[in-house]
Amino acid sequence: MKKILIYNTLSRKKEEFKPLKAGHLSFYYCGPTVYWTQHIGNLRGSVCADLIHRTFKYLNYDVSMTRNYTDVGHLTSDEDSGEDKMEKTAKKESLNPDQIAEKYIKIYEEDTSKINILEPKYKPKATENIEQMIDLIQVLMAKGYAYATDLAIYFDISKFENYTSLSRQKLEKNKSGAGSGDFSDVNKRNSADFSLWFFRAGEHKNALQYWPSPFFSTLVENGQGFPGWHLECSAMIKRYLGNTIDIHMGGIEHVSVHHTNEIAQSEAANGVKLANYWLHNEHLLVNDGKMSKSQGTSYSLGEVEEKGFKPLALRYFFLQSHYRSKQNFTFEALKGAQKGLSNIESKIFKLGEEVGEVNNDFKEKFLNYLLDDFNLPKSLAIIPEILKSDLSNQDKLATILDLDQVWGLNLEAVFKKQKEGGLDEKIKEIIKERDEARKNKDFIKSDELRNKLEDLGYKVEDSIDGTSVSKL
Ligand SMILES: [Zn+2]
Repeated sequence: MKKILIYNTLSRKKEEFKPLKAGHLSFYYCGPTVYWTQHIGNLRGSVCADLIHRTFKYLNYDVSMTRNYTDVGHLTSDEDSGEDKMEKTAKKESLNPDQIAEKYIKIYEEDTSKINILEPKYKPKATENIEQMIDLIQVLMAKGYAYATDLAIYFDISKFENYTSLSRQKLEKNKSGAGSGDFSDVNKRNSADFSLWFFRAGEHKNALQYWPSPFFSTLVENGQGFPGWHLECSAMIKRYLGNTIDIHMGGIEHVSVHHTNEIAQSEAANGVKLANYWLHNEHLLVNDGKMSKSQGTSYSLGEVEEKGFKPLALRYFFLQSHYRSKQNFTFEALKGAQKGLSNIESKIFKLGEEVGEVNNDFKEKFLNYLLDDFNLPKSLAIIPEILKSDLSNQDKLATILDLDQVWGLNLEAVFKKQKEGGLDEKIKEIIKERDEARKNKDFIKSDELRNKLEDLGYKVEDSIDGTSVSKL
């Protein structure tokens, strides 16, 4: 087996991957805070993690993929100040935080399924792991790493050596509370100490989500409160994957605060390294700028689909850029990706329905890209090489379908369509008629024709290339 090289944020260089247990990968990805529809920038992060998940599966690893849902404790600032994001949305939408979580988890899971992200092995919700979080805080208190004020339980960063080993920042840059936002507790020992537990007191006295705890504050009964966001990941990792894991991944914005704090809590409590490899995906830009809600550029997958794009075209677009590079999103670029993908699909369609043998030379070439820090963008160049090669159509098909286990472009669906014998003339005629109606903005007729196609057993999708159908 060849070496797998992974860029590790801890060492700032590529290292050879050595699993804790041969043939097994424990992998934790910091999942979404479920208080709104995740934008395509978040989805890009999820796709980056999925590509790594798929790579290890392709290499025959048994992957314990874990991606959490944060449904409490993530304040409007990542640095312990402001309102709880879930509660803010709950008030705005007149729902309770549980309903908000349910609503946005459903949307996220529909979206991840549409862009063909594999289901993780574990998808824990923070609110289902409160007991484990309280246990972890108790260990930190007993070991002298944590202390209580009337407002919160804090992690004392001065007690933890190498607090900035991941971020390599000067401490002044990492203020987790006092002095930032509204949250200021005069009894904090160091300004960068961060909350493990917020008592239902002070600015959080009306918190909607809270649990009793064994911790003491003169301001509340039964230690009522809620966990800090950073602590949640530490507790869930410990419960589902153990004290030390192989890979921990998340967005690049988590290096300075969230992941730094996860390391401090977990390593102080467990006395061992939290993760051997830290991976961070870069941001998605829109029109060369930061995605922004106020400028209307934090698009959701739904908005992208409304403009006539297929979810898999977005996945193909994401595949074109390496996870450690920023990628710039424009609808023009997405249009190019959609064209590129449908071009590949139509070429595969023409290869016929017989599947031959996977070609080892191409597979080898593909592996060389994968093993070099998951260089998926470069690996895409193999598709036209295979198509142009002198392999038989059957072997071309087998090889492309084999590599697509990692790309996840669902090219098998195209081939299956072929196997079903393609579309008969009658269906093609209706599609043509419907495209004509859509062009003339005759939506009544276009809807009628859609119903007709559905009655004949076809699922109808609209795209910029016109009507496309698949068997129901
Ligand atoms: Zn996390």
